[in-house]
Amino acid sequence: KLSSDSQCVQTSCPYCGVGCGVDIKVEQGQAVKLSGTPEHPANFGRLCVKGTNLLATNHHQGRLLHPVIHGERASWDLAIDTVAARFSEIIKKHGPDAVAFYGSGQLLTEDYYVANKLMKGYIGSANIDTNSRLCMSSAVSGYKRAFGEDLVPCSYQDLENTDLILLIGSNAAWTHPVLFQRMEKAKSVNPRLQIFAIDPRRTASAELADCHLPIKPGSDAALFNGLLCFLADNQGLDQAYVDNFTNNFAACLELAKPWTLTRTAAYCGISEALLTRLYRAFIGNKRVISFYSMGINQSSSGVDKCNAIINCHLASGKIGKAGSGPFSITGQPNAMGGREVGGLSSLLAAHMDIDNAKHRDLVQTFWQSPTIAGSPGYSATELFDKMAEGKVKAVWIMATNPAVSLPDRAKVEQALTACDFVVVSDCVAGNDTLAFADIKLPATAWSEKNGTVTNSERRISRQRGLLKPPGEALDDWQIITRMAKAMGFKQGFDYRGPAEIFDEHARLTAFNNNGERALDLSGLTGLTPQEYDRLKPVQWPVNAQYPQGCARVLSDGKFFTGNGKANFIEIVPAAPELACSEEYPFSLNSGRLRDQWHTMTRTGKANILTEHTKAPEVTLNPQDAKSLDVTEGDLLKISNNSGTAYLQAKLSDAVAAKQLFVPIHWNREFASSANINRLFAAIVDPISGQPEFKQAPVRLEKV
Ligand code: SF4
Repeated sequence: KLSSDSQCVQTSCPYCGVGCGVDIKVEQGQAVKLSGTPEHPANFGRLCVKGTNLLATNHHQGRLLHPVIHGERASWDLAIDTVAARFSEIIKKHGPDAVAFYGSGQLLTEDYYVANKLMKGYIGSANIDTNSRLCMSSAVSGYKRAFGEDLVPCSYQDLENTDLILLIGSNAAWTHPVLFQRMEKAKSVNPRLQIFAIDPRRTASAELADCHLPIKPGSDAALFNGLLCFLADNQGLDQAYVDNFTNNFAACLELAKPWTLTRTAAYCGISEALLTRLYRAFIGNKRVISFYSMGINQSSSGVDKCNAIINCHLASGKIGKAGSGPFSITGQPNAMGGREVGGLSSLLAAHMDIDNAKHRDLVQTFWQSPTIAGSPGYSATELFDKMAEGKVKAVWIMATNPAVSLPDRAKVEQALTACDFVVVSDCVAGNDTLAFADIKLPATAWSEKNGTVTNSERRISRQRGLLKPPGEALDDWQIITRMAKAMGFKQGFDYRGPAEIFDEHARLTAFNNNGERALDLSGLTGLTPQEYDRLKPVQWPVNAQYPQGCARVLSDGKFFTGNGKANFIEIVPAAPELACSEEYPFSLNSGRLRDQWHTMTRTGKANILTEHTKAPEVTLNPQDAKSLDVTEGDLLKISNNSGTAYLQAKLSDAVAAKQLFVPIHWNREFASSANINRLFAAIVDPISGQPEFKQAPVRLEKV
């Protein structure tokens, strides 16, 4: 609802997967004040520095205001007709797999839903993937292998009702700050609560933890195989749980058995005493949360790492209970919503699988669509490979900047150049990817859009528009449905607003579900636009059993596998695919800064946020600095076979010798030469397709 007088609008922060509620005072069409929503269950009024300064990043400077065709302003009708005609022509000549969509965890669930419906049910290809592939696809595959469904079992409140939190590959203090604040508060209330940080780097989170385990990069799966072995040898198993609710324990344990304390400590590069402290804490506390994020997911064996963690929770029965469970945290505000509507090339809507004939039939029947994609499409890196090869001839990129965020920038640029037809819809007028666009389509931004997002604890919240869009910007769902109609798909895309799209999504989750899938929004079907507008944050499933939503799933020991039991997965720990060598002796790690978001196209607009880290820096150990004769602030060249980047030296023993840390954010506007993903080859997990962004062998030189 647009506002002319003074009113308070409740919406969600778009800067991470915590999904905090924000209250915004709007006066005469301007957002004038912002605070955390006191009653929102994600944050209870708290905000981090990015959320606090949200309005400073929300001005119109640099916005894309009108459609642009080959550099010339165009009308919406002409732009949509041109995109539709070109996509149709390529499909007719080369088949549906010659076109693709590449979306984003910034899209709202309703945007995602219609994009997936158009591509999978009407165009007939599954070539729709998103930047969520770079963020949490390993977690999705890990959950699906273990539980039979992509299911996050825990809630944020579990972080306050536990005795032990393992932060694994997560610098939550910077990446999910409000959750870290909740952990800190819980610790002050309950001094028994211990936090262990498992991370090669001594991050801000590790500084505040009770114990830091600086394991060797990529050794997490061995650490958890070692824990499984330790549980078995030290009365740490919940045998009744294993017997009643799981499959394949014996085979899994057999593979973990060689991971003795001595071998695991040596492999992980930490002392046996430190490892024993962790393992004893896991056994000694009834309630344990394993909180994991990109350090686990962004790996060539990320899915195995997720399952190595889940195995330990299943073996000890520490799952589906208050304060216990494996808890993956997403990076983006709506990566979870995308998962729910099939926003990856391997998924169908409502948590159904594209390679399951029954699911395909069910979705097509519900949609009454002319076709349904018959097999998984290209994942993110494959998609750009196929563009470079000339197999994908048209791509529509929505709300993301892959030229900066994907690995192997040289290949991405080659792909965008080789692709015959590149359409980019975005709220900003220029970024590294828009430079390659044939057609630019102006999309609304966070403060103008209406829809829903799902945060890391399965909580659906409303994002509410509070300001009038500038220029001719349209919502993504509007652009997509106009394109669908222009392609000749008159039925199936006639929505009057996001409320109708949400209702269709909710009905699809319930359609012939019969309790076979946990994602069930039957309790949210049939909402009027007014009820949808008033929707309060709620955790799915929302159905007859849980009319008010469900905080914790899997408490009944019922899983979504063939026999209803959880699967132990046999894990053989694998090292990062590329090893350091004499030529490339440093291991490069990447991650986020506290005050920046993704490729800085929005957070880079606020001076107060750029103050925290003014220049691109590479952190190296003082011992390495000494041997290279480097002092703080020196310009350094980092290089390998994939590319070269230049950053200033920052000396800190927070990183171990022969390791480096760099932030991911720098784009062409701020420091093109510091864009770091050009140094990561497109090496991905074979199951999830998620790239290995945490380890790349590089050479370091003083310029
Ligand atoms: Fe926004 Fe995340 Fe900060 Fe919450 S923790 S205010 S969602 S950036």
